[in-house]
Amino acid sequence: MTRGRKIIAVMVAAMGPLALVILAKIPLGGALWVGAGTAVLMVLILRPVRPATAKVAAPVPVRQGSNAAQEVLGIIPDPVIVVGAQERVEFANPAACAIYPGFERGILLSLLVRHPEVLAVAGRARMKGLLQEVRFALRRPSERFLRVMALPLKAGRMALIFQDETELHRAEHMRAGFLANVSHELRTPLASLSGYIDTLSGHAKDDAAAQERFLAIMADQAARMGRLIDDLLSLSRIEMDAHLAPKTQVDLAAAMGDVKDALTPVFTARGVEVNMEPPSGPVYILGERDQVIQVIQNLIDNAVKYTPKGKSITVSINPDVIRQSPEFDQKALGETVPRLQIVEAPRDPGQRFAVLEVRDPGPGIPAEHLPRLGERFYRVEAGKTAERTGTGLGLAIVKHITNRHRGGFSVQSQPGAGTVFTVAFPLMLSQNLGTE
Ligand code: ADP
Repeated sequence: MTRGRKIIAVMVAAMGPLALVILAKIPLGGALWVGAGTAVLMVLILRPVRPATAKVAAPVPVRQGSNAAQEVLGIIPDPVIVVGAQERVEFANPAACAIYPGFERGILLSLLVRHPEVLAVAGRARMKGLLQEVRFALRRPSERFLRVMALPLKAGRMALIFQDETELHRAEHMRAGFLANVSHELRTPLASLSGYIDTLSGHAKDDAAAQERFLAIMADQAARMGRLIDDLLSLSRIEMDAHLAPKTQVDLAAAMGDVKDALTPVFTARGVEVNMEPPSGPVYILGERDQVIQVIQNLIDNAVKYTPKGKSITVSINPDVIRQSPEFDQKALGETVPRLQIVEAPRDPGQRFAVLEVRDPGPGIPAEHLPRLGERFYRVEAGKTAERTGTGLGLAIVKHITNRHRGGFSVQSQPGAGTVFTVAFPLMLSQNLGTE
């Protein structure tokens, strides 16, 4: 009860009996009882009324270091350290102990944390009494990029909260590298085009034979830029849908036939024979038709590109292979030739795949290059004619499409032994879904 309310109640208790004695001539004893009763009534009436929700909403004080808080700090993946008076560490959660294993209660911060950036930011936060932050790199056990915030608390305490920005850093690094690669790839044909434009408008102005030759080269370079842009757009479309596995039924055997029809003039022009070994009937996979065709086309295109004139490549389909069977990982070129999974097929029990195989008797790829196949713009040997016509994106596109299809992609190769690329597509097991 507030002070004001107390005074009113006392006045009623004192003045009431006096008035009754004087005005109503009531005996003093009875008047005192009436006064006391009225005062109690006044206290009850004047009592502050709490809102109905007050009980529910009453805040529960959170004790520092309470079990719930400790439990949360124990499971969050971000490292947290609490520093007390004289720079002694009071608390470090398990994530913090993983990067600073020397934690024991009361240890000096500078003995636990050896990174000068972290100690400096803690010092600044203490001096200014304000949140300070800094980014720094951890070299061991593996390279990680962290942001640390030093947050002054009550009673001279301070919290150091770390955030792992390694993924962000990596993505940023990849984006920058990708942009540098794209500009480099576009700059080469562009430089060649502008060089020929200068020549045509300069000393070749009146040389009809030179003009014809240069214009053909310029057309080639322009076509190369067009291919590069097409491939980049394909990649970005595939990446945008990467999380959506295709749900439609595609006949892999029919797709293989379509590619053969489309590419026959190219095989003929290059003088390479292509042996297609189609399965006896349709092979239904879960896929997106255009992307399945792109996979077959890119692999055949490479095989033809790297195969010497007069030789032949083979394209076949194994229509039904169980993931767990040894057949799935078989080495088509023999046990001694290295084989590498570029995309590992899911190991779901009972999952069955149709496996496309493209085999060529070309130069083969040295073992040290196999792990990098599928990286954008990665070429085994720069400078050869075949490499100059390619974009360096063909296998990256196959890798991304296989990933999206939840399939597998592998290569077996060795200089002198030729190359075999295989792509496994998940079989469509229910026939209830409609075709594309
Ligand atoms: P490109 O458009 O340059 O062919 P890809 O991504 O398709 O780019 O291939 C990347 C690199 O892998 C090629 O530059 C080449 O060095 C190597 N490569 C791909 N397929 C074959 C193959 N069948 N035989 C030999 N080397 C190959």
